[in-house]
This record gives sequence, structure tokens and C-alpha cells, in this order.
Amino acid sequence: MSGRVVVVGAGLAGAKTVEALRAGGYDGTVTLIGTETDRPYERPPLSKGYLLGTDERDAAFVHAADWYAAHDVDLRTGTTVRTLDLAGHDVIDDTGTRTGFDHLVLATGSEPRRLDVPGAQLDGVVYLRTLGDSDRLRAALVPGTRVVVVGGGWIGLEVAAAARAAGCEVSVLVRDPMPLLHVLGPELAAMFADLHRGNGVDLRTRTEVAEVVATGDGTRVGAVALADGTQVDADLVVVGIGAAPRVGLARDAGLTVEDGVVVDAHLRSSDPHVLAVGDIARAAHPLLGTHVRVEHWATALNQPATAAATILGRDEPYDRLPYFFTDQYELGMEYVGWVGPHGYDEVVVRGDLGSRELVAFWRREGRVVAGMNVNVWDVVDDVQALIRSGAVVERDRLADTSVPLTDLV
Ligand SMILES: Cc1cc2nc3c(=O)[nH]c(=O)nc-3n(C[C@H](O)[C@H](O)[C@H](O)COP(=O)(O)OP(=O)(O)OC[C@H]3O[C@@H](n4cnc5c(N)ncnc54)[C@H](O)[C@@H]3O)c2cc1C
Repeated sequence: MSGRVVVVGAGLAGAKTVEALRAGGYDGTVTLIGTETDRPYERPPLSKGYLLGTDERDAAFVHAADWYAAHDVDLRTGTTVRTLDLAGHDVIDDTGTRTGFDHLVLATGSEPRRLDVPGAQLDGVVYLRTLGDSDRLRAALVPGTRVVVVGGGWIGLEVAAAARAAGCEVSVLVRDPMPLLHVLGPELAAMFADLHRGNGVDLRTRTEVAEVVATGDGTRVGAVALADGTQVDADLVVVGIGAAPRVGLARDAGLTVEDGVVVDAHLRSSDPHVLAVGDIARAAHPLLGTHVRVEHWATALNQPATAAATILGRDEPYDRLPYFFTDQYELGMEYVGWVGPHGYDEVVVRGDLGSRELVAFWRREGRVVAGMNVNVWDVVDDVQALIRSGAVVERDRLADTSVPLTDLV
């Protein structure tokens, strides 16, 4: 099939889109445009192995440097698209260059939410999104450095673990009574709180940051002041308070945007020539019966195959369940499924919370809606099958490690 595809955003989702197009036999022109000067790379190592110094830089890249030319992909790094001219079927970049398309794929990802308090602009207040951010953070994590992490989400907690491994003194400031409370609920959030406290993190909950306080000549961070009047000394403040989808281009072009670019299950936006993938896509989900936006690696990895199929004229809706993973200290986990706005009735634990070796199931009306395996491996496919089946499962059988998961479906 010939034509012109332009992909805006050269992260994981953008790179996988051009790969899937070529793998699917698309032989038109393919252009991949990205702001960053590095070729596309994966972000999970930036707060884990790469930050810890155990993963090589090269391992983060999605493709070898020569892959793009070898697959006739025009990769334009260091280039930002400023405007989408949907009527004219052109994108316009920061050099004023117009690039024409028959199909446009938006893969512009997310950007960190900024801390909005006095002093947030001081040197030593940092964010983690890019390889360069990870390089700078890694250089700053030296023994004895006082690191204050603002926010108890996944990235904040992973940075806290890496900073402890590097010998830093670490405080984590969380607004809620527990980190990850909104993602996991109190039962499993408590496990992560214990994990960090057990590894020497000064975890402070129900805190509100009032100000970042300068030291010395007034340009560098010296402490974080809390709303209750206390201060936490800091050489480095890492802000991990969530991310926002980069939807400016889509919104300015008149596409439907509601906390993400709204797309159907084939990842087509309100303009059928424009698709969206990865962090920015709020996609109709056939199984979940609603639109979901998932800011996780697996979505950026897997949605592109659907986008390419749509462009190639194939009917392959995206119906994978949301999936994510984390590694912190000696704990590795995978989570699959979606609790959603209806919430859950109870969490059933198969295994041992104390030793952090378990599979947890979130149950609603007797059905499993999400599952998380912690330091237990090769079960995620079975957990997914259980969720997809919609089977009503007896509580005791779910908790019983002697009952194979495959017997529950
Ligand atoms: C530190 C870190 C650790 C993470 N760890 C995990 C993990 O353990 N597990 C997990 O499931 N997920 C993890 N994630 C989330 C995961 O990395 C993201 O979901 C994934 O990167 C999304 O891919 P994407 O391609 O949609 O967007 P992005 O990776 O954000 O890439 C988008 C790209 O588009 C570019 N761009 C934006 N606007 C323009 C424009 N106008 N013109 C040109 N280019 C543009 C950006 O510069 C960027 O390079 C982590 C994220 C971070 C930051």
C-alpha cells in the first residue's frame, strides 16, 4: 500500500508505529518527527536500571541507529511540529517546513506536571522524563546527598529506591495517607509504604509542600517547607507529581480532546485521517465499555500495531487490558486490568503480604477486574484470562495457592 504517513512524536509509540507499518507491508513514505535529539528510546529504565547504573544506555533505544534508514523511515530528530493543517493534510515544524500526509499519527506522549509553589524554579529542583534528565539525576545521586522526592507515584518511588541504593538520605513527601493510594487502594498501598520505610526512606504522608527554600546565594535548593510549618533539608528535590498528555497540537487543530485525544477502538480521532497512540490516546475499549487513557509502557508498545492495521485497512480493534510494571529494591511486580470508576468490593490476596510474594486480585461483584503479581512470575497471562472471562470466582479458591489459576476460569 502506498501513500504518506507522518508520525509526530518519536518516543516508543511513534517508533513502534513506523515499525508496524513497515512490518505490515506499507511501502509509502514514512516520516517520524521528534523534538528530542536522541532517536526513540524507552523510558522505564530511566528510573530503574539506567538510573542505578546497571543498564547500558544502548539498551534503552527502540531500534539500532541504522534501522530507520534501512527501513526507509525518514527520522527527523530535534524537530518539533508546531501546527497541524488538517484541511491541507500538512504538518508544519519549527523550521517552517510543511510535510504532507495521507494519514497522521499523533504520538506526542506526556510531560511532567510542574510543582507550583514559591521556589520551584531553584537549581536542584528536577523532573524525570528524558534520558538527559536521568543522566543528570544519576550524577547527583552520590552518597550522603539529601534527596527529597515530592510525590509518591511510581516514578517518585522508583527514584527513591534508586537514591537509597546510591547511598542518599531520602525523604518522600506524599499528600495522601499512603503512596499509590488512588492506584492500588489501602490494602496494597500499605505494602509499598512498608517497603520504603523498611529501606530507610523517611516517608511523610498527609503532607503539603508550601515552598522550596533557597540556601547560600539564594539560587539553590536548601530545604522544602511544608504547610504544617516543618522543613525537610534537601540538596536535591525530585518532583514526581504525575504527567499530563501533550494535547496542544490536537486541540489547536480542532480534534476532540478530553484529557487525551479521543479515539475509537481503531485509534482514529474525530478526523478519520488522524490517529493517536500511546500516552495521549483516550481510546474506546471494547472490553471495558468506555474510553481509557493509559500512561504506561505496554500501551505505547502495543497500540501502534492497531494504528498501523487501521492505516492498512484492516479491522483490528485495540482491546488489550491495561498493564504496567515496576521494580523497587527487591520487589518486582506486574499489574493488569482496570478497576475504573466503579471501584472494587475487596482485595483477595493469594500468597503472603508480609514476605511480599503474592498475587492480589481486585474483585467487584465476585469477578476479578484487576490483578497484581508481586515477586511471583509467569502468571500474568492467566490473570488476564481470568479478568477477560468475567467469571464469578469463589473468594476461597482465589486465595488458595493450591488451586491453579487456570482452574478458576
Ligand atoms: C522515568 C519514567 C519511568 C517509567 N517507568 C514505567 C514503568 O516502569 N512501567 C510502565 O508501564 N510505564 C513506565 N513509564 C511510562 C512510559 O514510559 C510511557 O507510558 C511511554 O513512554 C509513553 O510512550 P509515548 O511514545 O506515548 O510517549 P513519550 O515516551 O512521552 O514520547 C513522546 C515523544 O514525542 C515528542 N514530542 C512531543 N510533542 C512533539 C511535537 N510537537 N513535535 C515533535 N515531537 C514531539 C516528545 O519529545 C517525546 O519524545 C515511565 C515513564 C517515565 C518518564
